[in-house]
Amino acid sequence: KYHKVLEENRKLYNQIQDLKGNIRVYCRVRPFLHGQASNMSTISRIDDQNITIASASKNGKDARRNFTFNKVFGPTATQEEIFSDTQPLIQSVLDGYNVCIFAYGQTGSGKTHTMSGPKELNEKTIGVNYRALNDLFYLSEQQIRNSTNKGLSVPDANIVPVRSTAEVIEIMNIGQKNRAVSSTAMNDRSSRSHSCLTIHVQGKELTSGNMLRGCMHLVDLAGSERVDKSEVKGDRLKEAQHINKSLAALGDVIASLAQKSAHVPYRNSKLTQLLQDSLGGQAKTLMFVHMSPEADALSETLSTLKFAERVATVELGAARVNKDNVEVKELKEQIAALKATMTNKG
Ligand code: ADP
Ligand code: MG
Repeated sequence: KYHKVLEENRKLYNQIQDLKGNIRVYCRVRPFLHGQASNMSTISRIDDQNITIASASKNGKDARRNFTFNKVFGPTATQEEIFSDTQPLIQSVLDGYNVCIFAYGQTGSGKTHTMSGPKELNEKTIGVNYRALNDLFYLSEQQIRNSTNKGLSVPDANIVPVRSTAEVIEIMNIGQKNRAVSSTAMNDRSSRSHSCLTIHVQGKELTSGNMLRGCMHLVDLAGSERVDKSEVKGDRLKEAQHINKSLAALGDVIASLAQKSAHVPYRNSKLTQLLQDSLGGQAKTLMFVHMSPEADALSETLSTLKFAERVATVELGAARVNKDNVEVKELKEQIAALKATMTNKG
C-alpha cells in the first residue's frame, strides 16, 4: 500500500527532485471552528492554486485580491492530503538534501494542526511531523544496506541517535518539560514561541563510499500577528517583542533573497541562523502558509498572504546533495597539511 502511495506521487516526486531552488508555498485555510458557522468568510473563490480574498471596502464596493501558490488547500483538506504533497521531500532527506518545512500564520490559523495535529491524535489526525518521521524511518529501513548503523539523530542539547518515531516523540516530550526552565522553547503550547525539530540523517553511498548527509527542519513558527502592546506587559511583552524580532528577521532574509542581495542578514536572529542552511541556496524548502477564514481576521490574513507571496518569489538556486567525496576529502587534508608546514616554515 505504501509503495502504491509513493508510486502515485511519482510525478510530484520528480517535480520536486527537479525543483530548481524555488521555495514551494502551500496555502492552507482552516475551517470555521465549532459554533462559528454563521461567521462571515473572507474567501470569495478558491481552487487548486488560487485563493481570492474579498473585503467590503469603504465605498461599499467589494475589493478582491487574488493570490497564487503552488497549492491551495481548502477547509476540507485532510491531514493525509496535506502530507501526500509533502511526502516526496522526505525521500530527498535520505538522498542527502537539506529540507525545511515550516508553518507560518497568525495564532489560531492552524499551524500546530498541520505540523503536529489536534489534541486527539490518531492515525488520521497526526500531522506532518509524525508522518515525516514515520516515512523517514520506513524509507531508511527499505534502504537499510545504504545506511550506517547509527540511525537518525535528533539534536537537542546533544545529538541523540534514534530508531523510531516513538523515540523522537519521547525526546520532544522531554524537551517540552525542560521548556519551563530553559530559555529556548522546544514545543509550542503558547503560540508565542517557535518550535523546531531537526533531524540529521547520515548514510553511505555503497558504490562510491561517499558520505551522504541530509537534514530536515520541521518548524512550527510563533504566531505572525502584530502584538497589541496594550495587552501584554513585562516579561510577556519582552517575549512578544523578541518573537516579533525573529519573524521580522525572517522577513528580512526572505526579502534580500528575493532581491538577490549580496548580503543576506542571517545573523540577526537565532531563528534565521538555525534555518540558514535551509534558506541559503542548497535546500528544498516548503512553507505552509495558514489563514483563518473569518472576516475579523481579514487584515492579518492579507498581510500573511502578502508575505507568502513574497516568499514564493525567492529563488534559492538548485538544491544540492551534501556529499563528502572521499577523494576531495583526502586532497583537502593534504592541502591543510601543506599549509601547516608552510606556516611553520614562514
Ligand atoms: P496555531 O498553531 O496556528 O495557533 P492551531 O493549530 O492551534 O493554530 O489551530 C487552532 C484551532 O483550530 C485548534 O483547535 C485546531 O485543532 C483547529 N484547527 C486548525 N486547523 C484545523 C483544520 N484544518 N481542521 C480542523 N481543525 C483545525
Ligand atoms: Mg500553535
